[in-house]
Amino acid sequence: MDLHEIEKTNLRDPYNSHEVLYHESPEMFMSICPKTAKLITCNSTLCQTLGYNEKEIIGKSIFELYDTACHDKVKVLFSRFKNDDAVENEELCVRRKDGVVFPVLLSAKAVKNNKGEIMFSNSCWRDITKIKELESSLMKSNQLLNQKVKELAQKNKELEQFAYIVSHDLNTPLRNIKGVLQLIDEDSEGEIPLAWNTYFGYINQSVGRMERLIDTILEFSQLGIKSEKERIRPQEILKNVLEDFALEIQNQDVVIRKGTLPEINGYAVEFHMLLQNLIGNAIKFQDSSRTPEIEVGAIVQKEDWMFYVKDNGIGINMEHRHKIFSFFKRVNEKFQGTGIGLAQCKKIVELHGGRIWVERNETKGSCFYFTIPK
Ligand code: ADP
Repeated sequence: MDLHEIEKTNLRDPYNSHEVLYHESPEMFMSICPKTAKLITCNSTLCQTLGYNEKEIIGKSIFELYDTACHDKVKVLFSRFKNDDAVENEELCVRRKDGVVFPVLLSAKAVKNNKGEIMFSNSCWRDITKIKELESSLMKSNQLLNQKVKELAQKNKELEQFAYIVSHDLNTPLRNIKGVLQLIDEDSEGEIPLAWNTYFGYINQSVGRMERLIDTILEFSQLGIKSEKERIRPQEILKNVLEDFALEIQNQDVVIRKGTLPEINGYAVEFHMLLQNLIGNAIKFQDSSRTPEIEVGAIVQKEDWMFYVKDNGIGINMEHRHKIFSFFKRVNEKFQGTGIGLAQCKKIVELHGGRIWVERNETKGSCFYFTIPK
């Protein structure tokens, strides 16, 4: 008889196929008497899983098969079953003949006679040992992850405090150097050799740069610490930032194109700093062979707003597109700077729950994008 014949025979003989389906099912099936709570019948899978033969198990009270720890729950479920005619997906623990306990998911439905009385239950146990093992290993990984997140947050806090203290303390010797330079200048009454003036000029320049660096590190370590998230208006912040740069924009004939920026939940001071850094860079890194053009706008997306600051400047070699967001990373020494601006932008965007990246735009300038969740 080929496979086709066997299938046809089984279909013609539903009793046989149902019997096979009942006994060979991967789930444990049984029927329980509602009055005595005893097992009336069960399938082979149940016998095999629990380690009993049919003779031993039929007639046993279900309380003998459940672990004692869940007897109270079984009592509640049993009376709920008699009231509601069903229980569904209830977690319980079953005890095998050899004493091993394992978790199951119980679902049961009442089968009634024509007077509406429950004759027996059609019940099913699903062995959920594997699911429980996965659940507990997932819970352990989650706990570990939470622990690591906490540790990381603590380390971050310590690092920020460290950056704050270090940069704060560095200011004192720097002030002393400046003070001594001033004293030398006052006391010398023009008697110092000419070359020394040049040297003092270099020292002053370096002190100034050091001061700027310290201030930016201080600022960086304080980002998001003092302020609270609130409803803010980037459109207004953009207006203020452009006013800050009014002189540069006018002197360098920069063409500014403004799109509509939406209201967001954010940190006002930090968002100002973000636009200030991006627009400042767009003005700074311009290509002298063309009129500088800067466009600021926002695109609505499903879960967030995508803001952008686009310029037609010197552009960025895409090889450096990740590196430039790191602390003190500069790729063009021709222009002055500290190499902190974009690291600051990254921190601010991440503080808002978004991400920042750069792309080369069609005019070979740069386009900085960042997202802010709606
Ligand atoms: P800084 O501007 O002080 O050098 P940033 O962190 O703001 O530091 O920028 C890091 C580097 O990224 C810059 O040195 C520059 O090479 C590059 N960069 C940033 N913005 C632009 C831009 N709009 N166009 C071209 N290069 C840019």
